Amino acid sequence: MAKALNRRQLTGRDETHLVTLANGHRLQSEVARAFTALQLDARNAGFELSIASSFRSFCRQLTIWNGKAAGTRPIHDDLGRPMPIERLSRAEQLHAILRFSAIPGASRHHWGTDLDVYDSAAVPPDYPLQLSPSEVAAGGVFDPLHCWLDARLAAGESHGFFRPYGIDRGGVAPERWHLSYAPLSVACAAQFSGAMLAFCLDAEEVEGEMLLKAEIDADLSQIMTRYVAVPEDWCPSVSL
Ligand SMILES: [Zn+2]
Repeated sequence: MAKALNRRQLTGRDETHLVTLANGHRLQSEVARAFTALQLDARNAGFELSIASSFRSFCRQLTIWNGKAAGTRPIHDDLGRPMPIERLSRAEQLHAILRFSAIPGASRHHWGTDLDVYDSAAVPPDYPLQLSPSEVAAGGVFDPLHCWLDARLAAGESHGFFRPYGIDRGGVAPERWHLSYAPLSVACAAQFSGAMLAFCLDAEEVEGEMLLKAEIDADLSQIMTRYVAVPEDWCPSVSL
């Protein structure tokens, strides 16, 4: 049975649950072992399964969040087109950001169980990786990798990795590149709650300013349901 993470680990403020891989990415050790096995299978099938993003700290997520809310980082619509943030109401800004980015403290990337992947053998070394919908759509440069992954998932041969954002449920946009190690992340999701997020975002806790905070506070339970919780059917039931 996996050891439960503590509140600070679940919300990206404590990094003691992680190991650092040779490429600098950080994951829980059990997740790293499983991912190495999946990488080997991928290599045998002609793909170089590589990590674009793994663990992300609260501070890093806060920088991303504030950049989008301030308009210094682009916000995209579902078709990948930049959205004019200055023309949106604050509530519209909040939902446009939540479609593609988690609230600091509520990212699955805090847990060391989740990562974003691509096929580095499919692109030149200087390829400007975006992780955009078009890259992973049918005909996109990473579609063959993801079709192979789909088949592994369906066959129960994906070493515990599944897709929490595989389909559009009206909240977070589909992210075919996002994999989660279910044997550990199911427990993390069960531990996480709106109360934990509210505590994590308390002014006493947040380092520096957090934009759109009042809008989050006003709508927290709806945000939890629509953008944070992932229905249990994202993976086969796992024994904990
Ligand atoms: Zn991700």
